[in-house]
Formats: sequence, C-alpha cells, structure tokens
Amino acid sequence: MEELDALLAVQGADSRIDDLLARRASLPELVALKNAHLAVGTGERRLAALEAEAHTAELAIDKLDGEVGILDAKITEDDRRLYGGTVKSKELEALMAAIESLRRRKSAMEDDLLDKLEARDGLVGRMRAVKTELAGAQARKTEAEAAVSALWGEIDAEIATLRDRRAGLVGNISAPLLGLYERIRPYHDGVGAARVDEQCVCTCPLHLLIPRAEVEMLRRSAKRWDRCENCERILIIR
Ligand SMILES: [Zn+2]
Repeated sequence: MEELDALLAVQGADSRIDDLLARRASLPELVALKNAHLAVGTGERRLAALEAEAHTAELAIDKLDGEVGILDAKITEDDRRLYGGTVKSKELEALMAAIESLRRRKSAMEDDLLDKLEARDGLVGRMRAVKTELAGAQARKTEAEAAVSALWGEIDAEIATLRDRRAGLVGNISAPLLGLYERIRPYHDGVGAARVDEQCVCTCPLHLLIPRAEVEMLRRSAKRWDRCENCERILIIR
C-alpha cells in the first residue's frame, strides 16, 4: 500500500478507536450500574443498622422478660406463703401490701415489654422492606453488569480488530512521517493527518482556505503532502 494511503487508513483506524474508547467510558449502562451499585451500598448499610437495632431490642426484651419471670416467681411464692397458714396474722397485711406492690411492678413491666415487642415488630417490618429494596437493587446491579460486560466485549473486540489492522498498516509508512503523525495527533483532537479535498475530514478552517494553486502545486509534487500552516496537521493530497 502507498504510504499516504496507509497513513490515512491509520488515521481512520485511530479515530474509530478513539470513538470506541469514548463510547466505552460513557455508556448509559455504566450510569445504571453506578446507580445500582450505590443503591446496593445504601441498602446494605441501612439493613446493617436495622439489624443492630433489632439485636439491641431483642436483648432488652430478653432481659425484661427474665425480670418479669423473676417477679412472677416471687409473687407465686408470696401467694403460697399468704395462703399457707404459716404467716402470723400481724404480718398478713404487710405481706398483702408487698404482693400488691409486686403485681403493680409486674404490670408496669409487662406494659413496657409489650411496647418493646411492638417496636421490635416495627423494626422487623422495616428490615423486610429494606431487604426487598436491596434485592431489587442487587438484581438491577447484576443486570447492568451483564449489559456493560456484553457491550465492553463488543467494543473491545472491535478495538482489537482495528489495532490489528493498524499494526498491518504502519509498516507501509516511513518512520519520520509516522513519528510526526503520532507526535501531533494527541494535540489536535486525535486528527494528525487529513485529506485536502472536498471531503476533508479535518475541521481546521484553513484547510478549506488553502489556495487552489497551492493544492495543485502540491498535487504535482513528488511528496504530495504538507503541513497546514494553521493547525500543523499533515495535509495529504489525493
Ligand atoms: Zn489545518
């Protein structure tokens, strides 16, 4: 292949690779993946906080339940003494008052226990809701990962093909011209070489303003390329 055609073909491959890399980094599916990832993180943190809260609530319920049981045993024992006929009559009144006081305490503790059980049930309900949300977010994340992976696979395969093609082309280009192209391309929006004709791919306004006579002169020259005075890109006459 002729050197300048090879350079234009390399430019074509490089531009396509640039487009693919830009597309690879800005897939809408990546936004969906990021959002799902964030939602999973938020869900996991909320669930962990609720689990910790539920654990604390369970401990408090167990403790209170134990205390009610102890109180209950004490009341049963005092009741047995009261009706066992062993208590002296002058102590009966005090014992009855003590039992009454224990019953009041027990009743207050049972009310407290009921409140705690209700609060625990509320936490369990919230945990269930968060688990449902989390499962949804995890499903969205898996789906987005699969979509991104499939698209990246396609893009990477195309980039690999283009790089192979490019590797086959560069051998047709002299080292100084290829070096110049590679040096200037990064500074000119990825375009280091452009055709000068009606289909000029370069956006530099001066390309279009190059005098016809100059283009003709270049066309007749052996070199058939020059650098744009404005943007310094390699201008190729075909
Ligand atoms: Zn230019």
